This record gives sequence, structure tokens and C-alpha cells, in this order.
Amino acid sequence: MTEIVTLSSILEKVKEADRSGKKIINLAIGEPDFKVPEYIKKALVANFANVDDIDSYTETSGIEPLRAEISSRFNKDTGTNYYNAENVIITPGGKPALYASLYATVKKGDSVIIFNPAWGTFATQVKLIGANPLFIDILNKRITIGLLESAIGESHPAAMIVNSPANPTGRVLTIDEILAIVYISAKYGIIIIADDVYREISYIPLPPRIAHFAPEKTITIESFSKAYAMTGWRLGYAIAPKTIVDKIKEWQSQVLTCASSVVQYAGLEAIKSHESIKEMIGEFANRRNFVAERLREIQGISFILPDGAFYFFIDISSYFTEEIKTSSDLSKYLFEKASVAIAPGSSFGAEGYIRLSFAASREDLEEGISQIKKALESLKLNK
Ligand code: PLP
Repeated sequence: MTEIVTLSSILEKVKEADRSGKKIINLAIGEPDFKVPEYIKKALVANFANVDDIDSYTETSGIEPLRAEISSRFNKDTGTNYYNAENVIITPGGKPALYASLYATVKKGDSVIIFNPAWGTFATQVKLIGANPLFIDILNKRITIGLLESAIGESHPAAMIVNSPANPTGRVLTIDEILAIVYISAKYGIIIIADDVYREISYIPLPPRIAHFAPEKTITIESFSKAYAMTGWRLGYAIAPKTIVDKIKEWQSQVLTCASSVVQYAGLEAIKSHESIKEMIGEFANRRNFVAERLREIQGISFILPDGAFYFFIDISSYFTEEIKTSSDLSKYLFEKASVAIAPGSSFGAEGYIRLSFAASREDLEEGISQIKKALESLKLNK
């Protein structure tokens, strides 16, 4: 098998199959399968009638009421009073907030710490800036000061990207790991880019945000995509020291102008209620248990129960054969043999693994996992 399957190519294949009427169970997906809550949709429509300048560009950093609301909530959340509206910049999704944060803090040739396995966009964006990813493997390890210092060595990283709960593992960093990160950031002057977009989706009590410990060194990235299922609406933000927000603003002003005005006003309504989030998390929590039970019925695989996000990261290496030697080969095989789309671990820097998303209906999860089980068993028989 020579074709390399990646997360984006597998999602393309699902779309192609859809168009040709072939049913593929999509467990590669990275967005909630829930609909945007009704109260947010209503707010969107109402804005057209209620907001005078709804058709105009907004301020580059976003509408003031939304920035003010976010900053006051963030102060409460982080137990600080460091933040005000000037510390927030609203962007069309978390992705541009992340890129602009790198633009604001990292120079060409700098290195940026990425904890592996990681969402592939982190390394790609670092390279787009002209910087170099410095990967630190934490798959079966805890983050400690020792681990960080030995990885850093003589290099002088400009930033580190920290994602908790993490895509693709669902791992939530412990307070000790966070303190190690904060210590190293202070000692070496490294900016922390805290990608907290999955923070609302967690199944355990979370330790404080990194911004609680180091507001003046941290850029927090947030998004409306996961918590409010608003992926296609494109709304996110960065919240950071003002000097950094000003640099992000420079970039946004030339590249994106601003986030969509109607969506920003709808976002303001969205963050005022948590009811829909609670419902969604309840369903994700049930699915997580259900998927874990089903996966335990498959011999020879192993996984750690995710503490957050909606992914299982599964070690499937015992199923590798002469023919199927990589997670990309296995993804392709499962697509063809089991009609199930699964993201290969190689897209997240971890060979020997697959990422199964449970942002899918119970029926699809039940059917998909049983097809995967059959397909894996037939591989074993042919070994
Ligand atoms: N950060 C992580 C870890 C993600 O997985 C994603 C989306 O998959 C994002 C950020 C950005 O999402 P968006 O640009 O839709 O806000």
C-alpha cells in the first residue's frame, strides 16, 4: 500500500463517498454532531433587525460588548483581574487566533515547543511562520521540569503550545504538569500559547487555566466551534497581554479585517447560557463510556479513557502485518473493508495509533466499532 492517508484526505474521501451515495461511517470527524442551540440561531436572525450597523465592518479586534463580556468572564474563571476588553481579539475561529499568536510572538528560525501527539495544525502553522517545531513526546509520559529542560537543551524556544484537553488524546494536564510548564516559561522567557478550545468538554474537574498562573506570559486561544457546535460560523478569540493583542490586531487588520459582525453578536448571546453545553457534555459522557465498553471487546488494542474532548486515541499496532505497516495503511484498510473513516495516528505525530471520534450518533458508533472489530479480526486470521 503506497497511498498515504491523512486526516484531511480521509475527510475528503468521506465527502466523495457521500456524493456517490456510498455509506461511510465517519468516526474521523473533529466537530460536534449537535446542532447549534436554538437560542443562538434566534439571536443571529434577530441581530439583522436589532443592530444598526450590522452590515458594516466591526472594529478589527471585534465588537466591544463581546470583548468586555469575555474578559469579565475570564477574570472570574482565572481568579485574576488582569483582563479587560483590550486584552481580547475576536477572530473567525480558533485557527486564525492561533496563527496570529504565533505571528505576534515567534520569529523566523525560532523554535516552538509542541507536545506530541498533537493536532497537526500546530506544526504546520509553526512552519508557515518560518519557525521550527520542537516536539516533546508525552504519549506515555508526564510533563516535568526535567523532561522540559532536557528537551530544550541549548535551544531557546520562543513559545510553547499547550493543548488541554488535547486533540487527539483527550488528555487533561495535571496541576503538576501545568506548574512545570509555568516554571519553565518564567525561567526561559517562553510564551505559552494555551489552546483551551476543548475546555468546556471535559469529564473530570479541571485544574485552573494556565492563564491563572501566568497571565502576563500566556495567550489563551478559545473557540465557539466545539462548546456551541458553531464550527461553520467561524468564531473564536485570543486573550492575552495587551502588547500581544496589538500585534495580533496588526495581522488581523491586514489579513481578515474582522470576524463576521452578525456572528459576533450571536456569540455574545451564546456565552450567556451554559444550558445547551451541559446537555451536550452529558451526551458525550455517556457515549464515552459506551465506546470504551465496546472497544474493550476488541482484543489486542489499548487506550486511555479520555478526560476531555471527544476522541479515543487507540494503540492498534498489534494488528500491523506485512501489508499493513502504518496507521495510514490501517485507516485505508478500514475505509475500504469496514466502510469506516478513522484518523490515522500519523496525522498527529504518533505511529501505531488511530483516533476515533465519538462526535457521532450512538447507531454509527455501535455499527462503526463492530465493523472495525470484524475487520481487525480478519487481519489477525490472515497473519
Ligand atoms: N485547536 C484544536 C486543538 C482543534 O482541534 C481545533 C479544531 O479542530 C481548533 C483549535 C480550532 O477550531 P476552530 O478554528 O474551528 O475554532
